[in-house]
Amino acid sequence: MSAVDERDGRAHRADSPTLYERSRPGRRACALPASDVPATPLPAELARETLRLPELAQLDVVRHYTALAHRNFGVDSGFYPLGSCTMKYNPRLGEEVARLAGFAEAHPLADAEHVQPLLGVMLDLQRWLAELAGLSAVSLQPAAGAHGELTALLMMRAYHADRGEGARNRVLIPDSAHGTNPASTTMAGMIAVEIPSDPRGNVDLGALRAACDERVAGLMITNPNTLGLFEEQIEAVVETVHRHGGLVYGDGANMNALAGVVRPGDLGIDLMHFNLHKTFATPHGGGGPGSGPVAARSDLADYLPGPVVARSGEVGAGVLALVEPRRSIGRMCAFHGNFGMLLRAWAYLRVLGGDGLRRMAEHAVLNANYLLARLRGRFPVPYDRSCMHELVCEGRIEGSDVRALDICKRLLDHGIHPPTNYFPLIVHEALMIEPTETESRETLDAFLAALGAICDEAVRSPERLREAPHTTPVGRLDEVRAARHPVLVDAAVGGGGGTGAR
Ligand SMILES: *Cc1c(COP(=O)(O)O)cnc(C)c1O
Repeated sequence: MSAVDERDGRAHRADSPTLYERSRPGRRACALPASDVPATPLPAELARETLRLPELAQLDVVRHYTALAHRNFGVDSGFYPLGSCTMKYNPRLGEEVARLAGFAEAHPLADAEHVQPLLGVMLDLQRWLAELAGLSAVSLQPAAGAHGELTALLMMRAYHADRGEGARNRVLIPDSAHGTNPASTTMAGMIAVEIPSDPRGNVDLGALRAACDERVAGLMITNPNTLGLFEEQIEAVVETVHRHGGLVYGDGANMNALAGVVRPGDLGIDLMHFNLHKTFATPHGGGGPGSGPVAARSDLADYLPGPVVARSGEVGAGVLALVEPRRSIGRMCAFHGNFGMLLRAWAYLRVLGGDGLRRMAEHAVLNANYLLARLRGRFPVPYDRSCMHELVCEGRIEGSDVRALDICKRLLDHGIHPPTNYFPLIVHEALMIEPTETESRETLDAFLAALGAICDEAVRSPERLREAPHTTPVGRLDEVRAARHPVLVDAAVGGGGGTGAR
């Protein structure tokens, strides 16, 4: 292929023929047995003569997909310090548990009486998460963190409406928050109001007080926030919102810093979500499946989405049932949520236990502070205090005009996934680095050495950075063009691409 593909602005380096280019008339990947039923013609809309399908031998197909798989980068292939995402190692034990036939082959419509042990797993997880939250009840329905946000906001709305305060429709969101917070607010039919941060990276209390009135439904707060900093005035923040009749929602994506150490409920949080695919080591590559259980304080528990698992009959009778909370906002997910993820998180918690979980959080914080201490001299650190499980610095290098993006792209040539960049939005040229507890001292040192080499190179030969990456199968993408003019249909199939790519 040519150096630059005109269609998508990508620089393709490796020779990578598509399945269509490999196709040869008459080749087949499998031999179907002779039919023992009468032939029936396909419906006309399925039997399109113009629909060209590639014709390949089985080995060609296997090699094609294996080659694509080798291009993937994952936690299993290298260091992945993508801030806010908690890309920790997913222990194989979780995979083994999720694959046990009794779990994997259970039918989602099976009667409760036939799947009592499975409901037992869900009940354990509900209880353990409630304990970690310091709240009274949990629903395992939501399928992601953002989905948990939407769930909790719908619960907030229902709660206020039941109290005759349905006019409350403003949700306060600090400017350091993840973009899903305002997006979920809008989806829930409410209005997002931005609250600035103060010079130490905390919520600006004065601005919060000024924004609090009888229109406020609640506040969404991430603690530690996306600067990797513990909210120092959390009690005052919560008290201010409560005093004005609002609820406080905890975005639990950063629980890797707190699990087993601090219970959000003790800080006054009323509702929160967990990201099982972040804190509890379930996989989250390729966009899912995730899981974002929501925890709620006792007087909000009735609004949780159902079904949830509860003991029925007499106490101790040991019969588990799926029940709808009394004033439930309804279902948020088909069946029982992403059950495979629930199993993996259950196994993780079961193995670590309370003490292990606390050590997990402590090591995550230790690893991040080790990196912060070693990076301070190299990169500007805008809100410089001890960090929690991640750190944010500016991707600027003295004596060079390279940008955070150039540093990130060059890291790929060192076999390291880039940190999150240009987020949080309040930090100029942000690099947001989250090492997680599963990385060794040697890996962290190799990362620091790679950044050191990149800093030297930025001064000596900055063009190497601006043109990076140099060793990956695909070179630097024109990301704006890829987002604005995506090519969604292979030209060989679509007869010229129906998506207006050119
Ligand atoms: C990841 C993340 C979310 C959204 O979670 P998803 O599971 O990706 O939907 C929300 N807030 C913060 C701070 C996050 O890091």
